[in-house]
Amino acid sequence: MSDLIRASLDHCVKCTICESFCPVSQVTPLFPGPKYAGPQAERYRGIGVSPDSSIDYCSGCGICTTVCPQDVKIAEINSRARAKLWEERGIPLRNQLIARPSVLGRLGNPVAPLANWALHNRAVRSLVQSVIGVHRDAPMPRFAGRTFQKRSRTHAGAADAPAVVYFHGCGTNFYEPILGEMVVAVLEHNGFRVIIPRQDCCGLPLQSNGNFPAARSYVRRLVANLAPYARQGLPIVANSTSCGLMLKREAHEILGMDDEDLKAVSGSMFDLMEFLLGLHDRGELRTDFGSLPLTVPYHAPCQQRGHGIGKPALDLLALVPDLDTIELEVDCCGIAGTYGLKKEKYEISMAVGKRLFDDIRATGSDIAACDSETCRWQIAHGADVSAVHPVELLHRAYGLDTNGSRRAHAGAAGRRERSGS
Ligand code: SF4
Ligand code: SF4
Repeated sequence: MSDLIRASLDHCVKCTICESFCPVSQVTPLFPGPKYAGPQAERYRGIGVSPDSSIDYCSGCGICTTVCPQDVKIAEINSRARAKLWEERGIPLRNQLIARPSVLGRLGNPVAPLANWALHNRAVRSLVQSVIGVHRDAPMPRFAGRTFQKRSRTHAGAADAPAVVYFHGCGTNFYEPILGEMVVAVLEHNGFRVIIPRQDCCGLPLQSNGNFPAARSYVRRLVANLAPYARQGLPIVANSTSCGLMLKREAHEILGMDDEDLKAVSGSMFDLMEFLLGLHDRGELRTDFGSLPLTVPYHAPCQQRGHGIGKPALDLLALVPDLDTIELEVDCCGIAGTYGLKKEKYEISMAVGKRLFDDIRATGSDIAACDSETCRWQIAHGADVSAVHPVELLHRAYGLDTNGSRRAHAGAAGRRERSGS
């Protein structure tokens, strides 16, 4: 373990602030809470005692670390302890499978109609639950039947425009390619040439499921593709909050990686909304938004706290005429990447998200916005609304087509396709 992360446990003053913010320990007795599982238990792990298995119930949401006034790296300590646990016991097949979204995407996309039928068929899901342990009711996205990467092979953009590199992640590539097309259209509308390098998974699901060696391999491959652009001084933008955070900080802080490619990429990485708000702050964002008469509750994913950027989507959506955005105060939707897919954790995940789902329903809106794909799938499942990335609202308000050209403004009559099951 990085000395700095482990050393941070000595700064704990037992204030219990982390305990009152932990969304998991508030809904289940199976997880004793961040103070106990983090700095307190870590003292004993340090002398060779195996981690207690309750650590696997920490969802890795990261809230404890961001609220700790002493800067104790609680979530990072927990993540390392979980990896140690699975190293000793062997990672279950289920966790190995769900932690490889790009492998699943490559298998499922060519047979999308069949795969989507199976993923949403009650009998098949019950069988999968009994055999593998993925909960039959857990939210599953739909394979798009095409990949976003394919588009990038034919995509050029204006050659003399300033360039930005787009890290789209697996969710966009295999399940929501239309979101990637909207990101490109919005960036191009703001005068950028969008470079889309070949890319694979960032390794975050593997890290969350305790497979650090495999996670490091994925990170190394990805940053080798992105680093040449970072060294040219080009910004890299990510529309997935958690995947962006993986490259910005977590691969270094949790996986302990310190190579030069990762350093170059980390220093150039921006969350998409952070990047767009930066443009606005410098007077460089186009604000030719049309009216979008909608009320949209907005949930900032917990990983966004780790970026230390506030909630830039709220500032950007406030620029859109007639768009009424409601900031939701609940910290976590419960899904935490692959956590809520697991048979033994699904009910916990839904209990964590309940207040958020109730708050969304109470707005009476049939649409909600959130930056992270797994959170959107969870929100669509738990609150029964369409869940969109905030850039989709900007895209609509700009009146853009996915090829970047302007269309007659659609306003609230825009696409309302449900993001998850
Ligand atoms: S918030 Fe930080 S200092 Fe307070 S109990 Fe938790 S780890 Fe210790
Ligand atoms: S990472 Fe989240 S679930 Fe885990 S201890 Fe911290 S607040 Fe609780």
